Amino acid sequence: MASDTVLILGAGHAGFQLAASLRQHGCDGRVMLAGDEPVLPYQRPPLSKDYLDGKTGLDLLLMRPEAFYRDHKIELLHGMRAEAIDRAAKTVRFASGERVEYGHLVLATGARNRQPPLPGIELDGVCYLRNLAETDDLRARLTAAEHIVVIGAGFIGLEFAAIARGKGKEVTIVEMLDRVMARVASAPVSQVFAEAHRKTGVEFVFGAQAVQIAGAHGRATGIDLADGRHLPADLVLISIGVVPNTELAAAAELPVANGVLVDEVLATADPAVSAIGDCASFPCRHAPDNALSRLESVQNAADHARCVADRIVGKPHPYTALPWFWSEQGPLRLQIAGLTTGFDRAVTRGDVESGQFSVFCYRGGELAGIESVNRPADHAQARRLLTAGRQVTPEQATDESFDLRAAATVRPG
Ligand code: FAD
Repeated sequence: MASDTVLILGAGHAGFQLAASLRQHGCDGRVMLAGDEPVLPYQRPPLSKDYLDGKTGLDLLLMRPEAFYRDHKIELLHGMRAEAIDRAAKTVRFASGERVEYGHLVLATGARNRQPPLPGIELDGVCYLRNLAETDDLRARLTAAEHIVVIGAGFIGLEFAAIARGKGKEVTIVEMLDRVMARVASAPVSQVFAEAHRKTGVEFVFGAQAVQIAGAHGRATGIDLADGRHLPADLVLISIGVVPNTELAAAAELPVANGVLVDEVLATADPAVSAIGDCASFPCRHAPDNALSRLESVQNAADHARCVADRIVGKPHPYTALPWFWSEQGPLRLQIAGLTTGFDRAVTRGDVESGQFSVFCYRGGELAGIESVNRPADHAQARRLLTAGRQVTPEQATDESFDLRAAATVRPG
């Protein structure tokens, strides 16, 4: 029956987890997982890490082998691009012309690469790193490349740079802002990571804006900066963030604002349609004033999915999960718990020089988030502390003899 059908659009982290959680929680209706990529659902984080490096193959990327979907009666619609939603008829039209009816529709369409409007952007050798096809292309090109320019010093650009340097390539990173990971990490963390990359030979150009990709015979040969400088390159990686895939929702007249707008249970304005993962903008318990937030992380995608699965099987609850993130760049592992947006005070625990430390970020006197560099135990306690809403004063945070584990476990008073 169509009314029993949960149709999920997008077979990435969020879509996969929703299908799996629905079955795990005893949903016995039809579960259809439609994705426009021609492969089984796979994990994205290794794309810019071990998979790009050639240390793991496709088998280790896959969320589950094909038999899992068969055994759990999850109908996988591979290579199926949804083109339009008819909310009145409760149907979705795919690019193939096929129409599928739903009882509940979940948008899990993720995000796509942001493409700067630069002359020369179409040249051969200009690459992106978002999906498997792009990574396979990049992996192949990396072998032959000699001079690489990365535009954007965010997680993905830096992870890519670490691997490219490991393969002996010349790497220059061009960043508009004045430090690496400026939008997601505190200044001490940025400094340590930039220094570590520099030590391996990566060059940075901060406060710089690319104005053109230069080329010859259809191939990229470098980039031109606004200040007149030219950086030669035979491979240019564009990693300046993503744009949420909201067009389907907008065309179906669902409210959209930097993501498909959802409420605290992740439902859109239409109760028969939910949105999860990178494409959803939701009121976040951990943001200042529960601000609408659109987060890009595996944790967010998977926890959103679990929350919607609970609602579909009749156990609705507001979404409250603590956001957390990670990045691996060479020997450095950054783990962030909480949302540090707008923090006004930061203190450090551990020794920054040794490359093992945590930064406790406070907003209005309250602990907002903790960034840990090669201190996984701090991160584990940070998640417990923040989930429980417990406070650690800046003085306690900086005092290495203060027991974080106990603070995370024992109720004060
Ligand atoms: P996605 O995983 O992007 O899946 C969305 C899917 O929907 C895609 O397959 C897309 O093609 C498909 N789709 C879009 N439109 C349609 C349509 N109309 N019809 C059908 N299908 C459609 N996060 C971390 O927490 N830690 C990390 O270390 C980390 N590393 C990352 C490294 C890379 C290279 C990338 C790209 C991301 C990384 N992330 C990391 C972020 C994380 O992978 C994303 O936040 C997560 O994948 C979001 O899941 P999602 O299901 O919302 O979107």
